[in-house]
Amino acid sequence: MFPDLPAPVARVLGALRDAGHEAALVGGAVRDRLLGGRPDPDDWDVATSAHPDAVAALFPAHSWDNRFGTVTVAGTPSVEITSYRTEGGYRDRRRPDEVRFGASLEEDLARRDFTVNAIAWVPEDLERGTGRLVDPHDGAGDLDRRVLRTVGDPDERFAEDALRLVRAARIAGRLGLSLDAETEAAVRRRAADAGTVSGERLRDELLRMLDDPMPSRPLGLLERLGLLAVVLPEVAALRGVPQAKALPGDALDHTLRAVDAVVSTDRALRLAALLHDVGKATTLADGHFIGHERVGAELADAALRRLRVPRSIAAPVVRVVRHHMYSYDPEWSDAAVRRFVRRIGEKDMPLLFGLRRADDAASGAADEAGEVQAELERRIAAELASSGDVLRHRRLAIDGDDLQRELGMVPGPRIGSVMEALTEAVLDDPSRNRRDELLRLARELDPEAVTDGTAPGADG
Ligand code: ATP
Ligand code: MG
Repeated sequence: MFPDLPAPVARVLGALRDAGHEAALVGGAVRDRLLGGRPDPDDWDVATSAHPDAVAALFPAHSWDNRFGTVTVAGTPSVEITSYRTEGGYRDRRRPDEVRFGASLEEDLARRDFTVNAIAWVPEDLERGTGRLVDPHDGAGDLDRRVLRTVGDPDERFAEDALRLVRAARIAGRLGLSLDAETEAAVRRRAADAGTVSGERLRDELLRMLDDPMPSRPLGLLERLGLLAVVLPEVAALRGVPQAKALPGDALDHTLRAVDAVVSTDRALRLAALLHDVGKATTLADGHFIGHERVGAELADAALRRLRVPRSIAAPVVRVVRHHMYSYDPEWSDAAVRRFVRRIGEKDMPLLFGLRRADDAASGAADEAGEVQAELERRIAAELASSGDVLRHRRLAIDGDDLQRELGMVPGPRIGSVMEALTEAVLDDPSRNRRDELLRLARELDPEAVTDGTAPGADG
């Protein structure tokens, strides 16, 4: 089944076996290979009879999650090694009260979430990639039938760990499986429990949904199962909010189309597309969404904090949600283009423009809008080439100290407003960004400033 096992995976399986342990491939790699027609994953899952301490000793340089005894061997692809285990009760619906290692492969498969995820491939000849499948819960049969079903009683399994509710939507949505009737009924009954799962774990599942080539499939299923309202109520609230766009549907349909329209795999961009219109749920008045980008930025910020998304990703996402409604007009002067660059900041521009393209595509307006957008980007590139210093660092040839020294201005808000006016002047005409010119201008702006060179500290 795996004649072309990636070298890092073969190395891990071989090293465990040479040390006298059992080792098997499990999880997504086996599932997706049986299903066929899917690329191999970037992360492979290996289960082993070796105790976590023995695994850690075999792969000493690699990261080890102590609590769950998982060793991740970094590389391309990376390999996650878990020791066979059984799990005790789940009183808090989040993590097992007790994990017991030293279980058998069959016991380990029984604690896994879905039958299609509980199939192991035990290698026989690693060179030739031959081995046998261990599939006690007929996951292969469910794959043939294209059904997602829990291992054992769905109510119990979701009660143990509510993250499995979200995983059901992710895996079924991605693979185009339908939920077995009892599994689906249990998901719907228990949907609210997803709210008890930690932000970090929800984040990881959501980000993996966004990694999908077509995120609307898992996200759409998440909504249909009643889970989106629990994990991302801001986005779920867009259902039923009317839109006047060339393409049909409401604001949630538009949002999901925008996420699908993102061409890169950049997570910040996909998050931005998912959250760009969340302000629309509460701002509709007289057929317009007044200030939805401001409200949306606040809601997006709250959602990203709740989901523990690192600030390095969340902060730019919030900023581009805030700015996504800019409307460029070819009539803009060069100074207007420079002001735009300064307001947005050069580093957020790829994200903002990627969002705009996805938004336009999802609005059915990509063609006309694309030309105009391309022109804006050309003009920005030209301004950055000629006036980059001013635009990048907002750097003026003088600063507030110069105003005090040369003009005798006293510290206070007046200095700030003169600096602001000088900045505006330089944005209008970057050639004015010279010390003599700006001091002259400052004197004009602030006639009360001492101008005869006798100010304290002025040295003429
Ligand atoms: P992907 O291909 O997206 O990685 P995956 O099924 O491999 O999907 P992982 O999160 O990598 O998902 O988990 C690996 C395996 O661990 C799963 O296939 C499943 O057997 C088991 N597993 C993961 N999370 C849970 C959970 N919350 N409850 C029970 N079993 C789980
Ligand atoms: Mg996996």
